[in-house]
Amino acid sequence: MGNVSDRILTVLCSQLESNIRTKSRLLKEIAMPQHAYNQWRRQYNAQIIMEDVSNLPEVKFIDKEIPTLMITNEDIYYQNLNYVFALEDPEKSSCIASMARLRPEFYDESPNPTLVIQRLIKEAIHSIGHLKGMDHCGNIKCVMAYSPSVGDIDKKEKAFCERCKLKMITLGIKI
Ligand SMILES: [Zn+2]
Ligand SMILES: [Zn+2]
Repeated sequence: MGNVSDRILTVLCSQLESNIRTKSRLLKEIAMPQHAYNQWRRQYNAQIIMEDVSNLPEVKFIDKEIPTLMITNEDIYYQNLNYVFALEDPEKSSCIASMARLRPEFYDESPNPTLVIQRLIKEAIHSIGHLKGMDHCGNIKCVMAYSPSVGDIDKKEKAFCERCKLKMITLGIKI
């Protein structure tokens, strides 16, 4: 959504295919719905974006069995949380991930595009994991670990831990 580089999206697609066995297909760029912008918070309301996008004609035909993942550079929030890296809507089988706070520049650190992509991949796998029925995991190295800060994202790997893998088999999720 908005101006996200094709290179990032292509890397993300191939990583999703190899890490969560998800076949992926890129949809065309969608503009951020401006009424989702909260000028006081200077952030977009992730819930409004997802509702909006799910009503677009080009998205409506999408099979609900296939998760829709939206990527944005804008900072997003959910209800009274200060920010979210990502948000899922299991009913619509869609999720949105923001790169705004994945960039080291946000924390006055030097740019590091590789790190941003790694963080985004983990967040995307995590969100799709939720959409497929996975809950948070207590193992800080597991991709399903809850990560309120980028430090937590950096601690985890892009793989599911053994316990989560077993759970995925029970849920019938291919890994
Ligand atoms: Zn989560
Ligand atoms: Zn786990």
